[in-house]
Amino acid sequence: MKIVKSKFKMLLILLVVFNSINSLAQKYEVLIVTGQNNHYWQGSSKIVAKTFNNSDLFNATVIVSPSKGEDMSEFSPKFKKYDLVCLDYNGDYWSDKTQNKFVKFVKKGGGLVVFHASDNSFPKWKEFNEMIGLGGWGNRTEKDGPYVYWKNGEFVRDNSPGRGGSHGEQEDFVVRTRNSEHPIMKGLPSVWMHSKDELYHSLRGPANNMTVLATASQKKESGGSGRQEPMLMTINYGKGRVFHSVLGHTGKNSLNSVKCAGFITTLLRGAEWVVTGDVTQTISSDFPNAKAVTLWEGLEAPDAN
Ligand code: ZN
Repeated sequence: MKIVKSKFKMLLILLVVFNSINSLAQKYEVLIVTGQNNHYWQGSSKIVAKTFNNSDLFNATVIVSPSKGEDMSEFSPKFKKYDLVCLDYNGDYWSDKTQNKFVKFVKKGGGLVVFHASDNSFPKWKEFNEMIGLGGWGNRTEKDGPYVYWKNGEFVRDNSPGRGGSHGEQEDFVVRTRNSEHPIMKGLPSVWMHSKDELYHSLRGPANNMTVLATASQKKESGGSGRQEPMLMTINYGKGRVFHSVLGHTGKNSLNSVKCAGFITTLLRGAEWVVTGDVTQTISSDFPNAKAVTLWEGLEAPDAN
């Protein structure tokens, strides 16, 4: 009897171990790189990490770089331990060794997610600009590639001279889906309201192997371009997939843009897509329409079935 009992106990333990291994195996490992940014990275990186960890699909780790101006030579994240890297970084150049390691990671199929000012980073790093498709500031001009925007029912590549990167006053704005069949966008409304944010415009870059998924526009009187500007993009780089969201401006007292249901939903769907090439997440019933913003203070994630 005693033997039977201990055998039963052993079986239970094995089941528990198997189940926990199994549930761990289902999560994708995310490395959030931060530490320098002209935005409130201390807040945004925490919120984005919580967003990933709430979703049941991801397990996020945050790595903080040395501060601006400090020695970067030893900063060398172990990218290949992760399924995807999420950049919340706009700062000093990484060492050549770290840059090469990162290029190798994405080229070999590693996932990459960049949001907001991460696309201001590394203006002179050619391969990085290939990965992100479009970038802003850092003396980007026509030498770095065309402007890309939606006009008369199609995307235009505009090589006219001018600076790359600008934005107007922060405001709530409508985001418009431009590729409803892409796995990241499938099932999302064709228009939805995003909470107060900076609407980046006039970005420039090589824009190779790039698909724009959504656009938004701001009037010239408010500092916008008046054009339908790319908000969400995917880029294929080697065997790697990249999701680029220009949304997500943060300041010490303004974190709503990264708590917006639209930002969170598209970030998580983009993150799954860069890992698997598909999206299994369902869309929350309180996803915003074109009239009102939805903030998820508790950072609810869509059901990940
Ligand atoms: Zn910003």
